[in-house]
Amino acid sequence: MILIDRVTKSYSKDTTPALDKLSLHIAAKEFVVVVGSSGAGKSTLLKLITREEKPTSGKIVVGGVDYRDLRDKEIPLLRRTIGVVFQDFKLLPNRTAFENVAFALEIVGLSNREISSNVPKVMKLVGLEDKIDHFPNQLSGGERQRVAIARAVVRQPKILIADEPTGNLDPKHAWDIISILEKINKYGTTVMLTTHNQEIVKKLNRRVVTIDHGTVIKDRSEEAGS
Ligand code: ADP
Repeated sequence: MILIDRVTKSYSKDTTPALDKLSLHIAAKEFVVVVGSSGAGKSTLLKLITREEKPTSGKIVVGGVDYRDLRDKEIPLLRRTIGVVFQDFKLLPNRTAFENVAFALEIVGLSNREISSNVPKVMKLVGLEDKIDHFPNQLSGGERQRVAIARAVVRQPKILIADEPTGNLDPKHAWDIISILEKINKYGTTVMLTTHNQEIVKKLNRRVVTIDHGTVIKDRSEEAGS
């Protein structure tokens, strides 16, 4: 599903590379937690997968697409197969929860009928069916993040990337978000999560990839019962 093969990313010639011959393979439907201290290269890795950044060298294949063969005009189509959730939600403040999610479908040209059938389904998935008419400032942090997740999955992406999605939340709401990500994974979406929260890492008990100085230093598969 995601193959990163000896990928190096240098933002400039004078600094050490953000990623240094990093290799990683993530199978379809896996749930992977990526950890590492600030500056380790996690965001750079995610940006290479979403094609916000291009590698300096190395090979990236996502969903069978070798990015070296990818033309710029094909990038929007690629991005539709990858849902992204950020720490700071990035919701549109002047749109309701429903409209924020609907917007992701409007921009790819879905009809109003399809939108009114699809949006309530994902709002239910994230447990916000009774708050679809609320504006972001009428929602708690955890609820806003749930809207952001609904928006990320409404186009049924193959991969969901969640970059520190619980960074702004208290432990209870953080765990609600993780539970939703697990549910989405159970339905067949590959999930890549970054977090600094050791509690979550421990409790989740999934594969944990540790990145340091731009390379994978540890790759621990889920350990049942430990
Ligand atoms: P993390 O997400 O683990 O905190 P990053 O991928 O953001 O790590 O950063 C890895 C390294 O790359 C850091 O040294 C950072 O300063 C550098 N870096 C990240 N983005 C840029 C950029 N756009 N331009 C220059 N350097 C960058």
